[in-house]
Amino acid sequence: MRRAARIQRNAGALRHNLSRARALAPEQRVWAVIKADAYGHGMEWAAAQMDGFADGFAVSCIEEAMVLRGGGVRAPILVLQGPREASEWQVCARHGLQPVLHEEAQLPGLARLRGALPGLWIKLDTGMHRLGFAPLKAQILFEQVQRHPAARNGLHWLTHLACADQPGHPQNRAQLEQFAYAVSELPGQRSFANSAAVMSGLTTAALRGEWIRPGIMLYGPSPLLGEDGPERDLRPVMTVTAPLIAVKNLEPGAHVGYGATWTATRPTQVGVVAIGYADGYPRHAPSGTPVLVHGQECPLVGRVSMDMLEVDLTGVPHARVGDWVTLWGEGLPVERVARSAGTIGYELLTRVAGRLQIAEP
Ligand SMILES: *Cc1c(COP(=O)(O)O)cnc(C)c1O
Repeated sequence: MRRAARIQRNAGALRHNLSRARALAPEQRVWAVIKADAYGHGMEWAAAQMDGFADGFAVSCIEEAMVLRGGGVRAPILVLQGPREASEWQVCARHGLQPVLHEEAQLPGLARLRGALPGLWIKLDTGMHRLGFAPLKAQILFEQVQRHPAARNGLHWLTHLACADQPGHPQNRAQLEQFAYAVSELPGQRSFANSAAVMSGLTTAALRGEWIRPGIMLYGPSPLLGEDGPERDLRPVMTVTAPLIAVKNLEPGAHVGYGATWTATRPTQVGVVAIGYADGYPRHAPSGTPVLVHGQECPLVGRVSMDMLEVDLTGVPHARVGDWVTLWGEGLPVERVARSAGTIGYELLTRVAGRLQIAEP
């Protein structure tokens, strides 16, 4: 079953955004991050559109990597969370995946691996305290792993920044210094820049790295706090639209929706849009969140329902049942909606339900 509400995906925008990432890091190679179903856009679709444009693809887990290989993707694949079990190391070798080693518990599985990997990445925890080894261990790990036949095609280094969306945050510098120091005497390629680090120019600092790992910026949102993608010449890839299925006139004092949280203060025309939180629209979006009707921003009114939401059509008196409205995308950056709902564009994009139709232009 598919709902009337639609997702449109703009391949040209995706490649444009990728070229923006390249332009900002001209001497680096690009792992295009397409984990989480390419941030809700469809992983296989995204890989097909960027094939030949990206240098490789980064995914979270072996399962995602295998979907790509199963779909015929031959490009290099980086597996950010790395193998959990010995058998998964074997899968990496067999299918030419580049796994991330980030935790002692992975070492026995690696030790049992027969065969070579196209590349092995060691992750250092320089301050985010999520995945990675202490930077002090880099040298020891290098000595330990370098001799393993699995590492014969290259042993590389990565880390991840916690505060790159705030370019002036002191933790960025501290993490980059730790990283640079830890790997300064070691061979191998280095990678630390997500979209925010790419956009804010952190990669042109003393430490550049050989690979960037942009994710969100490929899909259009600005990774920097409080900014919208179009301000940075990023174009939305996903546009979500849904039809108006009812239009009604309310008297002053009339309430709208569950909990009667919104009240008309004057005669008001409102429209009912066939999309709700079960489709991935955020339930926490409050009254006032923008919805685009005939190119004009109209405020959401009342609580978002499971399958519907309502908008104040005062600005667009010619709106009719059957008209299509834009929830986010072309003309309305998802960051705006996310900010209003107290979240980030990443969450809205990745939560759009498989219930919506994908409309190919
Ligand atoms: C998700 C992820 C990225 C991409 O991050 P964006 O903020 O979407 O650019 C890069 N590196 C790692 C390790 C990630 O998990």
